[in-house]
Amino acid sequence: MQFALWAYAWDLLDEGVSDVVARLQELGITELNLATNYHHVQAFAPHNPERRTFFAEASSYFQPGEGYGTLEPIPNETMGDADWVDEIAAELAGTAVSLNSWTVGVHNSRLGMRHPETTIENAFGDDLVFGLCPSNPAVQTYLRTLVADLADRNQFERIELETFDYFYGTGFGWHHEKFHARLGTLGEFLFGLCFCPDCRGHAADQGVDVDRARSVVRETVDGIVAGDVPHDAAVGAWLRAHPAVSGYVDAREETLSALYRDLDRAAGSASLGSYVGLLSVGQTWMQGVDLHALADSVDYYTVAAYESSREAAVDCLHEADALTPEIPLHAGVLPAHPVVEDGDTLAAIVDGLVDAGTPRISFYNYGLLPERNLDWIADATEPHR
Ligand SMILES: [Zn+2]
Repeated sequence: MQFALWAYAWDLLDEGVSDVVARLQELGITELNLATNYHHVQAFAPHNPERRTFFAEASSYFQPGEGYGTLEPIPNETMGDADWVDEIAAELAGTAVSLNSWTVGVHNSRLGMRHPETTIENAFGDDLVFGLCPSNPAVQTYLRTLVADLADRNQFERIELETFDYFYGTGFGWHHEKFHARLGTLGEFLFGLCFCPDCRGHAADQGVDVDRARSVVRETVDGIVAGDVPHDAAVGAWLRAHPAVSGYVDAREETLSALYRDLDRAAGSASLGSYVGLLSVGQTWMQGVDLHALADSVDYYTVAAYESSREAAVDCLHEADALTPEIPLHAGVLPAHPVVEDGDTLAAIVDGLVDAGTPRISFYNYGLLPERNLDWIADATEPHR
């Protein structure tokens, strides 16, 4: 059984990597999933010796190499000319803790604001700048080069992918987002469905009536707002009744499958993993993800089981296993507010996931967790080390 912990570079460096390694050994943790390329964040840092919070725009925590083209990671300003990933990798070398890259792909508002022509363009023509569109060739180059750049550093046992897909319509939290109309799941999904020139082109190549799909999407979003279409309409049934949109949605899965074959090659000898279930496992198709098809290109999925009970966490794994039975399923656990409020619950969740057969659990995340929550991890992993 393997246990990992997601982590931010600033927390490791502020505390001192060697002190963190000693703490990880108490917790039964042997891997760090380090944020190498990351979205905007304000992180509350309850046990950081230098600060209680850290703000960052979408940034890399390494100095990027060559070949990115239009879209290139922007090194974090606090880091300056340093390379925090290099510093951490050097200090971890020779310890019992291995290093993995936690890699955010299309969710990059800073690059999106600078290059809105590469972002999701919804049916109304709005650029959703929080999400780069993976159908766009410049975005594909960016994602491939990012993975290859990280792999070429030879610092990571694993490269793990987050948001290398079509970003959900209402995003992932923005500054003071204002939606005073109830879109529901259907409306949110359709609001964010990309109609950029590349997405339209790929769908047209597959025989989809793109103009029809676009007009249906626009009319439906407006219809939900007007109260003419129920906000809680079942998305699957609605799509079956609207084949132009259904065909349009399916076309995205082909695009992502081709991209993931490239990412697999770019990752070289590193083990390639992908995070699933950040919406919910059953809704990954809304992000253009065909779990069964992408399983040919990645070595494992990490299923986000950010749940409050053993049963609910295990259900996440079972749901993923039913969709894609042939690939190892690792698990992600949030041992903290607002889902887990005590150590016994965490221990039950970990026991359940181990019994369900997962070979590896990652906990979220070192710098965000209060000390007492870290102690819960030590208790939860102890029987399984
Ligand atoms: Zn697009």
